[in-house]
Amino acid sequence: MKIRFLGAHNYETKDTRLVSLLIDDVLAIDVGGLSSSLSFEEQCKIKAVLLTHQHYDHVRDIPTLAMNLFLGGANTTVYSIPAVLDVLDKHLLNEVIYPDFRRRPPDKPTIKFSVVEPNKSQTILGYDVLAVPVKHGVPTVGYQLSADGKSFFYTGDTGPGLAECWEKVAPQLLIIEVTGSNKFTEWARGGRHLTPSLLERELEGFGKLKGYLPRIIIVHMSPHLEKDIVVEVGAVAKNLNASITLAHEGMEINL
Ligand SMILES: [Zn+2]
Ligand SMILES: [Zn+2]
Repeated sequence: MKIRFLGAHNYETKDTRLVSLLIDDVLAIDVGGLSSSLSFEEQCKIKAVLLTHQHYDHVRDIPTLAMNLFLGGANTTVYSIPAVLDVLDKHLLNEVIYPDFRRRPPDKPTIKFSVVEPNKSQTILGYDVLAVPVKHGVPTVGYQLSADGKSFFYTGDTGPGLAECWEKVAPQLLIIEVTGSNKFTEWARGGRHLTPSLLERELEGFGKLKGYLPRIIIVHMSPHLEKDIVVEVGAVAKNLNASITLAHEGMEINL
């Protein structure tokens, strides 16, 4: 599996994009920074989009992707939990802010919605996909993707409390969020996001339960805190004897 990090951050600037992953050029996970990262032709190859939750930084490019696919005569399926698909239906593809591409063109719609059921694996484009609930301010699922004996788990946005989630997954690569540095730990603890010290506790839990730690890649950093996050995550890696690196825009991983 080839994983491209199109966006790796919590907010957008001229140098940073919102978290978006592209798998083997055909499957996208979260799309806050998708359209500005890919050519028209590359976007027309995307046959499936998985969304973790409804926050704008994760769903923003659904309308722009849909317009490109419509003009390119292509189509795709958007997979998520009902709460997310409802938000797209009401707020982004509602004929007010943008056309409803589920009805255009009428004979071969550009966008199709498909509901994922948490904790039940399904096959999407030949990948074994498992949606697992995580802890965030709105209903959120992370996704484990497996193919050819390789697998990774992407948490989406999450706060602490992942013990139940760890029971469901067994990835070789963990892509997990760290939004703030340690001085924001109290703010993050409300169950919404992670900091390096909160990450350390979650990884300890993973290690105890599973007897191993996967390779770990961090996303969703706040750019102005990244200098501190790098140092603090480095300390976590040392404490746990783990491989932990920060993602950046344009990074590619071959699993
Ligand atoms: Zn969020
Ligand atoms: Zn977010």
